[in-house]
Amino acid sequence: MYQGVTKQQLSLLPLSKYGDDDGDAEIALLDPEGESEMSTDKTCAICTLDYEKGDLIRKLKCRHTYHQECIDDWLGKKNECCLCKAKVV
Ligand SMILES: [Zn+2]
Ligand SMILES: [Zn+2]
Repeated sequence: MYQGVTKQQLSLLPLSKYGDDDGDAEIALLDPEGESEMSTDKTCAICTLDYEKGDLIRKLKCRHTYHQECIDDWLGKKNECCLCKAKVV
């Protein structure tokens, strides 16, 4: 029975370090009031904690982001985005 995403498939998903990405850092600085639109980009919907500098973040094709450890655990059980239910692989 296969439901989740395999470790090998997980390893193919983009992974980045929060705070290291120039684009994200600039958006945060230039748009301090962008809370409503950007909220999913700074908070992990699985553990509901804000990202901190140096956290490993995984970005899905639907553009939602999560902590690596949170989404890897989640995707081990089901192949869908926690927020929009889009298929991940
Ligand atoms: Zn998390
Ligand atoms: Zn999504």
